[in-house]
Amino acid sequence: MVQIKTPDQIRKMREAGLVVAAIHAATREAAVPGATTRDLDEVARKVIAEHGAKSNFLGYGGFPATICTSKNEVVVHGIPSEKVVLEDGDIISIDCGAIIDGWHGDAAYTAFVGSGHSPELIELSRVTEESMWAGIAAMKAGNRLVDISRAIETYIRRQPKPGGGKYGIVEDYGGHGIGTEMHMDPHLLNYVERRRGKGPKLVPGFCLAIEPMVSLGTPRTEVLEDDWTVITTDGTWSSHWEHSVALTEEGPLVLTAPDGGKAKLAEMGVTAAPDPLG
Ligand code: MG
Ligand code: MG
Repeated sequence: MVQIKTPDQIRKMREAGLVVAAIHAATREAAVPGATTRDLDEVARKVIAEHGAKSNFLGYGGFPATICTSKNEVVVHGIPSEKVVLEDGDIISIDCGAIIDGWHGDAAYTAFVGSGHSPELIELSRVTEESMWAGIAAMKAGNRLVDISRAIETYIRRQPKPGGGKYGIVEDYGGHGIGTEMHMDPHLLNYVERRRGKGPKLVPGFCLAIEPMVSLGTPRTEVLEDDWTVITTDGTWSSHWEHSVALTEEGPLVLTAPDGGKAKLAEMGVTAAPDPLG
């Protein structure tokens, strides 16, 4: 069952989404060489408190922090720690969420720590982010869930990888419905798997977290002994980008983007829905 939201409920989700955007802005500024991932968690905790929001990460399945901090070969679900120090040249994916009045937001981005990153890493993050936007642009009435998966996969497959070889599209994790819970039906694959069928039809009120995870090597992952940290099995570095998106009568609204996705979608020839918060 897919939870279909009313315009009023989407307005609430937009409020939660803007808190997530504020966490992104604050943690992005704090992700500098010498900072620990625990410092970033503290920054996020403060932003959530300042907005009168609640964390949907803290305590989720026993998760001990407010954000996930996934550095280099860590794909997702890295646990903030004072022992993990950011170094010049690292990349880090920060995933976080917030709840306002029971409505959830969830979004992630990859940041470059310091400077001097190789073209391969810069391209890895760009391709992952752009594949997310390709998925968002496919979120239109009449499409099916698989059309989003296909848009993400096709975008990644068409990008030449600096240094040759193929990108790994992580298969063990994917996007999801979002609303009164962070993780709801349906699960959204970042690639097309024919035996799964086409999935539900997209209609106004459909809300999804769209989140490709891409590595420089394998699509395979394993979980470390802390039961959370997910790494690539070949140790190659990876990128993770995510937005929560609502499909409205007037098109997609990117709930966790400061401008609702307006500028980026316009570049792609898609008109974003007007921001319900003005
Ligand atoms: Mg997330
Ligand atoms: Mg998510």
